[in-house]
Formats: sequence, structure tokens, C-alpha cells
Amino acid sequence: MLILGVKGREVLDSRGNPTVECDVRTDKGIFSAIVPSGASTGIHEALELRDGGKRFLGMGVLKAVKNINETISKRITKKMFTEQMELDETLIRLDGTPNKKKLGANAILAVSMACCRAFAAEKNQKLYEHIAEISGNNKLLLPIPAFNIINGGKHAQNNLDIQEFMILPAKAKTFEEAYQMGSEVYHCLKKLIADKKGKEQTNVGDEGGFAPKVSGMEEPIQLILDAIKEAGYKNKIFIGMDCAASEFYKNGRYYLDGIEYSAGDLAEKYYELSQKYPIVTIEDPFAQEDWQSWQKLMEKMKGVQIVGDDLLCTNTKRIEKAIVLNACNALLLKVNQIGTVTEAIQAAQLAMKNKWNIMVSHRSGETEDTFIADLVVGLGCGQIKSGAPCRGERTAKYNRLLRIEEELGKKAKFNSLK
Ligand code: PEP
Ligand code: MG
Repeated sequence: MLILGVKGREVLDSRGNPTVECDVRTDKGIFSAIVPSGASTGIHEALELRDGGKRFLGMGVLKAVKNINETISKRITKKMFTEQMELDETLIRLDGTPNKKKLGANAILAVSMACCRAFAAEKNQKLYEHIAEISGNNKLLLPIPAFNIINGGKHAQNNLDIQEFMILPAKAKTFEEAYQMGSEVYHCLKKLIADKKGKEQTNVGDEGGFAPKVSGMEEPIQLILDAIKEAGYKNKIFIGMDCAASEFYKNGRYYLDGIEYSAGDLAEKYYELSQKYPIVTIEDPFAQEDWQSWQKLMEKMKGVQIVGDDLLCTNTKRIEKAIVLNACNALLLKVNQIGTVTEAIQAAQLAMKNKWNIMVSHRSGETEDTFIADLVVGLGCGQIKSGAPCRGERTAKYNRLLRIEEELGKKAKFNSLK
């Protein structure tokens, strides 16, 4: 594939902060991508280059855009690339730092994703087909969506310390059905919160979930279970949590809901919750360097998916360590934590080889880009979280999945729990 031109620009994300968009031009057309941005970021993530200074309160990305328009453009324009890996390796070498701090992972990823779309077009493939091919997967799979319907932590202004309470309509037969179930529960939950707590409590957080004032971490679960019952889906929808525990960890202790927990007490609390409620997945239950507590939880909790997000940062070195230590059994896959499509695929391959589950994920600061919808189908890994079934930047991904399911027709397979 001959790259004819590369153009970066600054656009806004769903929180109204600047982010990087890139157009790549080939003889097949112009292919674009926009990178997302996290709020509860892991310390081992690739570097998101921000300008600092006064403009956009320091959040501008003109340095990253300049890196695309000058350094990267100079290196890849009018050059032939045969595949994604070759392109990504060129970008990684051009940056030359372990965390992409020279050019910025936001600059590099925008180019990498736009090129992935261009490579797909070059081969007359859909993006998900192309991703399946380059990741060596021969089973396209529609994912179970994990809808984040109650928001807390860094994503909301309420008093809830746990960041996300999600619903997984895992007994649906198709993605379309799962989407409908999620939406119906979302609306029942809105009514329930309004009736019980007042309608001003139905304001939403960054990922579109409600952000009510609650009495602790059990109340959101109870509200959600009531909403599931009200919607008529009792025993058909399961619950997931993203604790984002690094955000409430200090000097070996965990501070949440006004209570100070030791790691052991917190593990006990998670265990109790998992016995009492239909919880199937818990993400970042402990802080990103508290490996021992993760290991102990894995011994204690059987049958629950323990997902590493900040712990792993989509980084194969950290995934390898977690495999050796048996610290978790699932990877949260966020492409911008590592900075190229190739490295994200390698992280997924390593996780799959070790029989882990994988949940592809959006960021709390999102855009209209739907790349992760194609990614999850192409990888065939079966789970995605993209926030609530509400707000355009969230529904863009779910709507893309609906279209993919329609396009695949009879060939479409949904990852339902039997
Ligand atoms: C998460 O923690 O899983 C998440 C999506 O939030 P953020 O993008 O803020 O890291
Ligand atoms: Mg997380």
C-alpha cells in the first residue's frame, strides 16, 4: 500500500477535551481515525502527549498533531507498506522510547488506526475481516456488551467510589437482543431512581450511566437488580463491576464509601457480594501494583472473571507477569494504553493463548470513532464495554455492532452464555 498523504488535526472528545484525529490518503481514498482518552489512567500506559500551557487549560494536542504532520508524515508518505505490523514497527522505531513519549501514543495510534482502515480497503475487506486476518482469527464473534449504567469514581460527581456498575445481557441470543435488553433496563433504572431518590438523581456520568447519590457499593447493585426485574429479565442479565481501585488506594489501604479497608477485608467484601448477587466480572479490584492482593483474590473467587485494566495496561510484559503470578484471568483491551494496533493485537493473542477472557474497552473520554466495534468482532474475543446504551459516542460502537450483525446475516454468531 502506497501512502499518499497523512494529515493530523485537533478535534474534541466527549468530555470536550482536545484529542487527535488523523487522515491517511491512499489511492483507495481517505481513511480517518480519532483516539480516545482515559480519566482513571494506569501509570504504565503509553504516554498521551498534551501541550500544557494556557490553551485548552493545558489539554491541547497540537504537539502530537505536529508530530503527525511533520515527523511521521515525512517518514511514511510516498512509502510502500505491505502490512499493519510493518507500518506500526516503523512508527515504534521512529519514536524510539518504551512508552512512546517522544511522538506521543495519541499521535502514533491515530496513524496506526487510520492505516488499519486503509489496509482493509486495500484488500477490499471490512475492517473486522481485516482485523481477523491480521490477528490470525478465523471465527468472527459478536460480543456480549457490558453496559455501564451506574457511574462513580472519576467518571461522575456523586459520592460513589466504585467507578462502574455494568449489566451483561449474556443470555440474549443475538447482539440486537442484548442491546434491546440493555436499553430497556437502562430506562427502567432511570424511572426507579427518579421514583426512589428524586429525578435530579438521574443525571449521568461520563460514560452515560446514572450517577445518583448512594449509601455505598451495594445500593447500586440492588437498584440495578430491581430494574432488571422490572424490565422482565430476571436471571437473564448479570452484573459486572469496574472498581478502578487504584483511585481509592493509599499506602496499603483502600478507602471507599467512608470506610477504610485492608486488602484482605476488601477481598472478603468482594467475595460476599459475589455470593449474594449475580456478579460475573470484577475489574481492577485492587491497585495496579498490589499484585499479592490480586493473587489472593484469584485463589478465593472461583468462577468470577477477574479483569486487569490498570494492572495490565494492554502491555504484554505486564500480561506475562500476571500470567506467571496468576493475578487475574481476563484482559481489558484498550488500544490507546499501548499505542498501536499491532501491539494491541499481540496483547490479545497472548491473553487468548493463556485461556484468558478478553473484554475490549472504550475510554471514558470517547469520540464518534467506532474502531473498537470492528476490533472486538475481528478478534473474536466476545466481550465489549462501551458505556451505557445512551450518549452518541457510546452508542456509536453498539450501533456499529448492530450493523455488523446485520451484515453477517446467518453467519453472525453471538457470544451468549448457555
Ligand atoms: C476504565 O477504567 O475501564 C475506563 C474505561 O475508564 P478510563 O477510560 O477513564 O480509564
Ligand atoms: Mg477500568
